Amino acid sequence: MRIVDGKALAKEIIERVKTEVNVIIKNGSEINFTAVIVGDNPASVLYVSKKQKACEDVGIKMTVVSLAGGVTQKALNNKLSELSHDKNTHGILLQLPLPDGLNAREAISYIVPHKDVDGLTAENFGYLATEEARLVPCTALGILHILQANGVELAGQNVCVIGRSNIVGKPVALLLTAHNATVTLAHSKTRDLINHTKNADIVIVAAGKPGLLSADMVKNGVVVIDVGINRTADGAICGDVDFGTVSKKASLITPVPGGVGPLTIAFLLSNIVQACRGRGE
Ligand code: NAD
Repeated sequence: MRIVDGKALAKEIIERVKTEVNVIIKNGSEINFTAVIVGDNPASVLYVSKKQKACEDVGIKMTVVSLAGGVTQKALNNKLSELSHDKNTHGILLQLPLPDGLNAREAISYIVPHKDVDGLTAENFGYLATEEARLVPCTALGILHILQANGVELAGQNVCVIGRSNIVGKPVALLLTAHNATVTLAHSKTRDLINHTKNADIVIVAAGKPGLLSADMVKNGVVVIDVGINRTADGAICGDVDFGTVSKKASLITPVPGGVGPLTIAFLLSNIVQACRGRGE
């Protein structure tokens, strides 16, 4: 059984990004990325500060626009529209979740697709679905990279993705389908989840439920990607997989922390550079 070293894999991506950023800067340009955060959700504030540190490390200029939790939908939409039309802003991210009363889908529709570094606009989703991928959600790219970097065969493999969010579950299901895997997309209304996981060569869990995947649910030799980030009562971070028991049956498994998380940040940086070069257009 191998445990994925997400930090080491992320470091390689970040080094590549740094080289690309240096070339852009040497040519007299800069990369400006703006994150919009609404309210003061502690997890969101922490994620934005992590992104800021990562951007600084590679030479990307990141601006944080903080809007009050009580901002109106119209004001949020207008801010995203303004950034979309600002020629000095190359990438835009709306930190989710939004406070109650705000509609994330509506707000995201005000981000122009070629600056949408989270790959969440309907246009970028459509491109992914039609296998003409442009800007793809970072966690999905990170998961694909983990699998490919570890030599995991995808073509013809049975993959069970647990969780159907727009940010993780659906895009990773589309991406792996495009790589010829046979994907089952499970969610909270799925009956007899075990029947799907037992049959899977690869299980990807993105539900936000600690201990959701247990050893009895997987076959020997399974590849397990744990996307979940949960905080336990004692303040520790854990994933959605019962790591202690599942790792005994798995051929490859990602830990939490130190698995998928670092790659999500690395591919965000990569998407920002791609957006800056206009490749997202
Ligand atoms: P979400 O809440 O938007 O979606 C959760 C999905 O899980 C839903 O589709 C739901 O139907 C499904 N689900 C919930 N309980 C289930 C159950 N018992 N059985 C089957 N399916 C179930 O969450 P999200 O934004 O996709 O995030 C999922 C988890 O991944 C969270 O813990 C989040 O913190 C984490 N996350 C991690 C990264 C990373 O980089 N590692 C990135 C994004 C999200």
